[in-house]
Amino acid sequence: MSNQAVFLDRDGTVNEEMGYINHPDRFIILPQVPEAIRLLKKNNFKVILVSNQAGVAKGYFPIELIEEIHQILQERLRKEDATLDAIYYCPHHPQGSVSLYKKDCSCRKPKPGLIYKAQKDFNLAVNKSYVVGDRFKDIELAHNVGAKGILILTGYGKGELRYIAPNHPLKPHFIAQNLYQAAQWIIKDAYSDR
Ligand SMILES: [Mg+2]
Ligand SMILES: [Zn+2]
Repeated sequence: MSNQAVFLDRDGTVNEEMGYINHPDRFIILPQVPEAIRLLKKNNFKVILVSNQAGVAKGYFPIELIEEIHQILQERLRKEDATLDAIYYCPHHPQGSVSLYKKDCSCRKPKPGLIYKAQKDFNLAVNKSYVVGDRFKDIELAHNVGAKGILILTGYGKGELRYIAPNHPLKPHFIAQNLYQAAQWIIKDAYSDR
């Protein structure tokens, strides 16, 4: 039971989508996100962030900024008893300008590298796990690892639903208004299986 995970996208899912988060002041946690994470943790899910941060490869900000922002995130969540179990991110991009991170890696979503790393670290049953995000990239990621994908309508979600969904071969398992609603659905869905 505790080897089930909910993988959360970051920008547009946990915090407001504003393009590249190149300064802590642009990092604004969305409403009810701590409550959603706490609810999932109470129900024995591992809650793990998986994020593409190509701004590093593109030279928009240093990798240290990502660490700083994730520290801020975890501190705020800790106060609400909603600490994330882990955070994984991909700093790479195939067309990057920073040679260290210019790479056609295996961890840039929707490639499964970040989730496979988490699977190893936590011994997770990925096929009983969930991916939540505001883009079809996250739904593709879920599909690629055999998890269930939930599209949420924060961030790019509404636009993805309107313009991408009609021509996309994949269908989300559920579409939620926000992370809290996604968490409620996940718990119901998982219990019907457990
Ligand atoms: Mg996103
Ligand atoms: Zn990568």
